[in-house]
Amino acid sequence: MTKITFINANIYQHQQQDFQKGQYFTVDTQTQRITAIGSGQPTEQGSDKVIDFQNQYVLPGIMNAHTHIANIPTYWTKKKAAIKAADAKAMQTMFAIKNMQDLINNGVTYIRNVGAAYDLDIPIKIMQQQKMIAGPRVMTSGRAFTITGGHGDSSGIEVDGVDEMTKGVRQALKRGVDNIKLMVTGGVLRNGETPDDIQFNADEIRAAVREAHHKNKTVATHAQGNAGVKEAARAGVDTVEHAFDVDDETIAIMKEQGTFIVPTMNAMYAIYQYGEGTVPDWARNKVIINIKKHFASIKKAAAAGIPIAMGTDAGTPYNGFESESAYEMQLYVDKAGMTPAQAIDTATINCARALHVANDFGEIAVGKIADFIVTADNPLTDISILQKDKAVYQGGVCVHHPADQEVKSGIGC
Ligand SMILES: [Zn+2]
Repeated sequence: MTKITFINANIYQHQQQDFQKGQYFTVDTQTQRITAIGSGQPTEQGSDKVIDFQNQYVLPGIMNAHTHIANIPTYWTKKKAAIKAADAKAMQTMFAIKNMQDLINNGVTYIRNVGAAYDLDIPIKIMQQQKMIAGPRVMTSGRAFTITGGHGDSSGIEVDGVDEMTKGVRQALKRGVDNIKLMVTGGVLRNGETPDDIQFNADEIRAAVREAHHKNKTVATHAQGNAGVKEAARAGVDTVEHAFDVDDETIAIMKEQGTFIVPTMNAMYAIYQYGEGTVPDWARNKVIINIKKHFASIKKAAAAGIPIAMGTDAGTPYNGFESESAYEMQLYVDKAGMTPAQAIDTATINCARALHVANDFGEIAVGKIADFIVTADNPLTDISILQKDKAVYQGGVCVHHPADQEVKSGIGC
């Protein structure tokens, strides 16, 4: 099979913030790219197969800019022995494979992983590329960088000072990571620190940015309090993760630098909603103190025009790899003042731009890779439609479809 034409599709176009009705598009499954798109019925002949989408809704595949693929989101509910075993490479590897399958079944076709113990995302990426495992395409970071005794120190790489940062980043790039992840402030899931603590200083961040950008790689920074967000943005990082608080000066710096925010609101929401009694009080209390401020901060930044790229922090407590990416988009509508179209853009075109992969991903257009999802109903009328079971295509090939759909419409894998 080389050429498939999909007809009678309503295709989401971010330029219009709407679906274009009655479209067709053609995919070359050898190159995985879209070769034609237009209104009505295709004029050009020669497709090997025609699939009638029967006026369903076609959107670019969901992109998630912040995952921890080797984490176990139900870890906190387990008994002590199981929790200890969860630190083992074998268990994390098996969960990574399961998490990859869950993501693709739920329409997530691209992830940026921002911290994996043992650099596990590197072999996971290669196995996905070789079709040895199912799952989204993976952008890797390997282990995250932290100060000695800082956020994420148990599974990350501890570096202190400009020289150690420079050497550490060069070594990570040599191991083949696509992105550098820095822990700039304290966080929720480590005792004895707060989201407002600054950990890496400006010189250390700048050293990481210099080395990564020198090799055309990006830098993602865990930064929660305003001072850390500001420091990271000023140093020229590509994305700020979490951003619990941003003042006007920080927003001005981010605008000037072109910094994206990756909100991860579901990480906070899930601990708040489901964590009582299993997530330790010292962690859950930090969520209770910060959750309103966090959601208000994302709303303020989005309203000010800071580009938002969807990310969930998948792998934190009760924040998994199934419908959570789509739920994160609903939080942007319910709590951060976005329209459903703007929420869709965070998980498609904005994410592709934040990750510097917009030449290939993030929209349904000629020349782009044909990763897309298909829903029976219009998600612009209700963003929660994206949390329902839906058909998923990778490179124009169906990799998942709802159980009843094949029977109903003849569309299937
Ligand atoms: Zn994270």
